[in-house]
Amino acid sequence: MFTITPIVIAVLISTAVNIVVTAVSWHRKTTRYGLYFALGMTGVTFWTLMSSLDYAATSLNLKILFATLEGWGYMSAHPFFAMFAMSFAGYDWILEKKWAKAFFIFVPVTNTLWVTTNSLHGLVWRGFIQKADNVVVFVHGPAYEWIFVSSHLLTVIIIISLAIASFKGSVFSRRQGQILLASILFAEGTNIAYNLSFGVEGVDWTSVAFSVIGALFLWALYGQKFLDIVPIAREKLIDSLRDGMIVLDSQGRIVDMNPSAAKMMGHPSNKLLGRRIETLLHFPPSILDQPPDKEVRFELEVGGTPQRYFDVLISPLLNDNANVVGRLIIFRDNTEHKIIQDELQRLARTDALTGLFNRGYFFELTEKELAKSIRYNRPLSLILFDLDLFKEVNDKYGHRAGDQALISIGNLLRREQRESDIAARYGGEEFVLLLSETDINGAATTAERLRKLIEFMPVHNDEDTFQISGSFGVAGKELTSAKTIDELISQADQALYEAKRDGRNRVVCYR
Ligand code: GH3
Ligand code: MG
Ligand code: MG
Repeated sequence: MFTITPIVIAVLISTAVNIVVTAVSWHRKTTRYGLYFALGMTGVTFWTLMSSLDYAATSLNLKILFATLEGWGYMSAHPFFAMFAMSFAGYDWILEKKWAKAFFIFVPVTNTLWVTTNSLHGLVWRGFIQKADNVVVFVHGPAYEWIFVSSHLLTVIIIISLAIASFKGSVFSRRQGQILLASILFAEGTNIAYNLSFGVEGVDWTSVAFSVIGALFLWALYGQKFLDIVPIAREKLIDSLRDGMIVLDSQGRIVDMNPSAAKMMGHPSNKLLGRRIETLLHFPPSILDQPPDKEVRFELEVGGTPQRYFDVLISPLLNDNANVVGRLIIFRDNTEHKIIQDELQRLARTDALTGLFNRGYFFELTEKELAKSIRYNRPLSLILFDLDLFKEVNDKYGHRAGDQALISIGNLLRREQRESDIAARYGGEEFVLLLSETDINGAATTAERLRKLIEFMPVHNDEDTFQISGSFGVAGKELTSAKTIDELISQADQALYEAKRDGRNRVVCYR
């Protein structure tokens, strides 16, 4: 009933390969195209199995029976591979359409019917010619031509979809698409050769070719680990994101990135793939030492002009068995937000008229200075001064002139203060200056210098030019053992009060 020939052995081997490929493809189907691929491979496996039985069978009736079943496998494999290719290329939305569904059902169902009912009409196979080596040539009828054309229409769909896929997406998905395209062209070539009657007459090697492409497909789809991580269906979405995304493998090498990430890093992605992330970006040293299954979030400053700020989130990438296979890094450019935030913070700390620090921020900054000077037993002093008879200035020259005088004081303080001094507008026309590493005598000298500068500073307003003066109170930490800035200020204020009482425009130290 059956006899084993070299052809049978070849087809049996390819059946075995197909069984493995099909099993793996069912196991690995994580995406929709993965499902279509598994279904297509199931059809191919059935086809090759029936094909081997066909070549092994010795009676014509059995051969025809297996050839019919072969047709079933072949007819179902084609539409599933077409759907796979379309889904792979990102055309799932077409597969959703009713007409597309109708087409993909109509072609295999009608073709299967033709083949199955051949004994009634003989339109697929007109006759059978017995040859050597137990090979029977099936003489094709007109329905066979229809089957040929319709199934090749599906092949054209596969080729076009894969051709498109080999030109778009990331480098990896393009390469994947190219491997798939090359293998389908190979299988197609084999089939055309059979139909043009090259090779051994009556032996169709297409099913054998399909086991080769099945294995190639499997390798292209699942052979490279990172492809599990970035299913192509999401690629469009990821490519269009403004956030940068980088996929690292378990060794910290870049295996994929979206265009935004490449742009942020200032290089085309093909220059960056395969490189280690820490050679490209200066992450805080502790970040990449974190266990890879931990999620980390931090802010990254990228130098250069303009300086840019990124919110960075590093998350583990897990496979089905919850093992870490890599990491996903998401960058969000936070520069604009950061600039606004910094500006708001600056405004909250600054006096709008003079541009000096305000009272609140002065306390924030100086409490730390005082604590430090106490801890290390270093000198620290404070100067508080108040402009003299400022109400009169306002009355005589106008409020705007008064403002101008205050602005001039702000400029003067900024110009005169040392880097380590902290100057602020303490109130209306009161100013304060904290001098670190300075004892009360040094502070008194500074106060005297400022007093003179103010006294001789002309204030310009419209047509008027006038002069102002200030009274100064100085307090030093080492003499008073003050524990808080408030205490130091209150002591300087007492000295200031004395300066006013003694006739203004002078410096008095708290003793
Ligand atoms: P004294 O020498 O005793 O300090 O006299 P004084 O007039 O400066 O005293 P007082 O504290 O009574 O008045 C302070 C004045 O400073 C009152 C207020 O109109 C004026 N002043 C406070 N803030 C501003 C400001 O932002 N702009 C202007 N133009 N004037 C201000
Ligand atoms: Mg005053
Ligand atoms: Mg005052």
